[in-house]
Amino acid sequence: MNREAWIDAELDALREAHLFRRAIALDRALLNFSSNDYLNLAHHPEVIAAAERALRECGASAGASRLVSGTLALHEELEARLAKLKGYPAGLVFGSGYLTNLGVLPALVGRGDAIFADRLAHASLMDATMLSRAELHRFRHNDAGHLEELLKKHAGAGRKLVVTESVFSMDGDLAPLPDIATVAERHGALLLVDEAHATGVFGPGGSGLIREHKLESAVNISMGTLSKALGGYGGFVACSEKLRALLINRARAFIFTTAPPPPVLGAALGALDVLEKNTGLGAELLRRAALFRQQLQAAGLDTMQSASQIIPVFVGDNARALALAGRLREQGLLVVAIRPPTVPEGTARLRLSVTLAHSEADLVRSAKIVSSAIVR
Ligand SMILES: *Cc1c(COP(=O)(O)O)cnc(C)c1O
Repeated sequence: MNREAWIDAELDALREAHLFRRAIALDRALLNFSSNDYLNLAHHPEVIAAAERALRECGASAGASRLVSGTLALHEELEARLAKLKGYPAGLVFGSGYLTNLGVLPALVGRGDAIFADRLAHASLMDATMLSRAELHRFRHNDAGHLEELLKKHAGAGRKLVVTESVFSMDGDLAPLPDIATVAERHGALLLVDEAHATGVFGPGGSGLIREHKLESAVNISMGTLSKALGGYGGFVACSEKLRALLINRARAFIFTTAPPPPVLGAALGALDVLEKNTGLGAELLRRAALFRQQLQAAGLDTMQSASQIIPVFVGDNARALALAGRLREQGLLVVAIRPPTVPEGTARLRLSVTLAHSEADLVRSAKIVSSAIVR
């Protein structure tokens, strides 16, 4: 009996739907429009030096989980620095952004409670919801009115938690955070905002959109990742001291895994140093992204509601999006076709992210290439 025969059928079905994916090693000859290393910090000499220093002084591994013997002075230092950047009393670092969400949501709500999530919320938030066993109610994308309707309708639920992103990962649009915070507060719901794509880019000194809107006291959990604009790896939350204490005791994705290793912590501290010394990096990135977006729009492309460094170009059909990505690759651009289940059915798109590795000349040239591939 071939116990793996069913896998062929599954893979064939994916191929037929143009949804089959492969993990291909990065071709460095291509101009990369698919990187989340927005501030180009992954290769910054100061970041590399800080990672090397931590590696030499503290070794390659933390050696244990945080609550056993894996907590190092570097964890505490990084947590204090992240809390300060975000304007919160406390911070807590996790193995990745995915693990952060997976740890945090089930620590806050459980059976009998309810999570209210934006319909486009990231897969990590959805997986965390399932793990929590709380009921899930999804509100229409960026629709605080619909969120309020759902909160009223489910007023009888136990603890309530609202989750959204501040910059949406696949659409590059921004959440109406002040409205969402007002509604969550009015209905006594906790609020978690995932700033994976806002950290380092938006807000004073790259602190994010919560801080830009001065919503630190209205947003209970400011979640972020070290893996995107900070050019490293790892995830974190900024929150109150008592929420931090709860997470340390209840977040299983924090407790039952080895602590983030020294070089990763060093890199993050180095990135924060660079960010502190160069407070205009995020604004410069957004300026270049706006130029690029204007050029794409002027050529008649639909960049959806993008208002950030993430710029989708709407295509619709999966096969066409794939073919376009292939055509761009032939012309030297690495652009990924984003298809379901990452985005809703029928909304396949090219997703271009602008980074500080792109010069203005690169962006002008690339806008022309993308426009002529699509407008035919
Ligand atoms: C990337 C991302 C995460 C996960 O962060 P990692 O550090 O890459 O695991 C979480 N939420 C959102 C919105 C993201 O885009």
